[in-house]
Amino acid sequence: MRLVDTHNHIDFPDFDADRPALLQRCAELGVERQVLLGVFRENWERVLQLAERNDALYAALGLHPIYLAQHRPEHLRDLREQLQRLVGHPKLCAVGEIGLDYYIEELDREAQQALFEEQLRIAIDFELPVLLHVRRAHAAMIATLKRFRPPRRGIVHAFAGSREEAREYIRLGFRLGLGGAPTWPQANRLRKTVAELPLDSIVLETDAPDMAPAMFPGQRNSPAHLPAICEALAELRGVSSEELAEASTRNAREVFGWT
Ligand SMILES: [Zn+2]
Repeated sequence: MRLVDTHNHIDFPDFDADRPALLQRCAELGVERQVLLGVFRENWERVLQLAERNDALYAALGLHPIYLAQHRPEHLRDLREQLQRLVGHPKLCAVGEIGLDYYIEELDREAQQALFEEQLRIAIDFELPVLLHVRRAHAAMIATLKRFRPPRRGIVHAFAGSREEAREYIRLGFRLGLGGAPTWPQANRLRKTVAELPLDSIVLETDAPDMAPAMFPGQRNSPAHLPAICEALAELRGVSSEELAEASTRNAREVFGWT
């Protein structure tokens, strides 16, 4: 089984004690590529460094909405400069993690929107796909994507929206990132939606260290859990795990332009 973890944070200190062993384990399990997400200015260097030093790791750079208070206007300028410096770099694969979070009410929505739109413009200018964080903000996100129509499109990470919202994203050419959330039996509506998604719209992810799947409750989530997540979601959809692995890996390769 060959898998791509399209979204994780194994640059976080949670993995400092065992990162090399974990990467070795992932290679043995067939998790052949992993995308590490930049979330604020200070972690871009680390994400890039890890991607450059490990064959399986790739980097995305962005300013995450939940760190709104930490971002400064010059960080958007820095993002442009970094991407300019990295044009053609084989390990830079997207702009992310960017998006809209209406779940945390203290996050100013107008400021989030402005930050998000500028990063969408940057992704369009550098011809990169976008990796999106969307919580309770699908209507605003879909409306924004319809205005910008980013040509390289991207992934709605940890998708937990409705069937109608899924349809809108798919119509815009976006893939839906699925991980631990739909493995939980109580996630009824999401499980129904996931069961009906077209196979060519699905990519897999862990969001490690967050979003532990039902099979590993309360633990640090890990990219080494991706095969078990693939198996659980394949069962939910009534296909073999090989079929889901193959389709999701093909979809991920298409998003990132990996040939
Ligand atoms: Zn994330």
